[in-house]
Amino acid sequence: MLQQTTVAAVIPYFLRFTSRWPTAQALAAAPLDDVLAAWAGLGYYARARNLHACAVAVAASGGQFPGQEADLLKLPGIGPYTAAAIAAIAFGQRAVVVDGNVDRVIARIFALETPLPTVKPEIRRLAALLTPETRAGDYAQAMMDLGATVCTPQSPTCQDCPVQRFCQAFGTGAAGQYPRKSPKATRPIRRALAFLLQDADKRIWVRRREARGLLGGMLEVPSTDWLEQPAYPTLSAAPFPAAWTILDGEVRHVFTHFELRVQVALGCQGQGAPNDGFWLADKEIAQAALPTVMKKIIRHGQGSGGTD
Ligand code: SF4
Repeated sequence: MLQQTTVAAVIPYFLRFTSRWPTAQALAAAPLDDVLAAWAGLGYYARARNLHACAVAVAASGGQFPGQEADLLKLPGIGPYTAAAIAAIAFGQRAVVVDGNVDRVIARIFALETPLPTVKPEIRRLAALLTPETRAGDYAQAMMDLGATVCTPQSPTCQDCPVQRFCQAFGTGAAGQYPRKSPKATRPIRRALAFLLQDADKRIWVRRREARGLLGGMLEVPSTDWLEQPAYPTLSAAPFPAAWTILDGEVRHVFTHFELRVQVALGCQGQGAPNDGFWLADKEIAQAALPTVMKKIIRHGQGSGGTD
């Protein structure tokens, strides 16, 4: 849950998840749609699908997580960082745990001049040299906490730092300039036209996205493809006939690699909606597996007006 997401945002989700599904078996037995609905709003939905798939795999092999890093890596959604963290923290093995905090601390201690991400293999090599034979889990947590609380990205509090005397960046007086970064690419803008169909009871028509890819398995309001193009698509791209009207304003939503801008066309239809989706009542929207961008589109279509 914490990948790309702050602790403050995760806490309520974590508490709800662990009280609703306290074991891998319980999570494995839950319908994927319930898991996606409980995840709605947290973003990066592949994490929810992987978490569920991982629980299914663990439950199928008796409910115990494997204790070896190499076996953990075979589970869905578990990459090198997570496998090493579980092996070190949960199973007390010597595993090299490198997250974004550790990247920063090591880049500063050694004053590495190569920018991210090119410097990552060097950081990993140095991290492996520093990792102790015993209490690797405690060491990993200490490094991550050091990065999270003292050696912070913008203004490290070097005067409080327990490793200050080893730190080459501290010696330069410009610790905050490490790790060096490559110039940021600008985020491209994609545009789309969404088609929000409402019936006489103000229910809205949604369908499920393909299981794979961005927002995979989540519900969506149908739209054109999201393309880098200077102008919005027109009503001729409507997926089915209805009395469509394009609303004023646009919805904006920032994904990691692009910004999406969406105009919303509102249509009214009492019957004859396509059969690859279903109607959602207003009171069901909050609990449905709708990603944040879709909730913005619905709010805009239901009359919030203007630019979200
Ligand atoms: S001395 Fe400063 S830059 Fe170096 S590790 Fe400590 S907090 Fe980070």
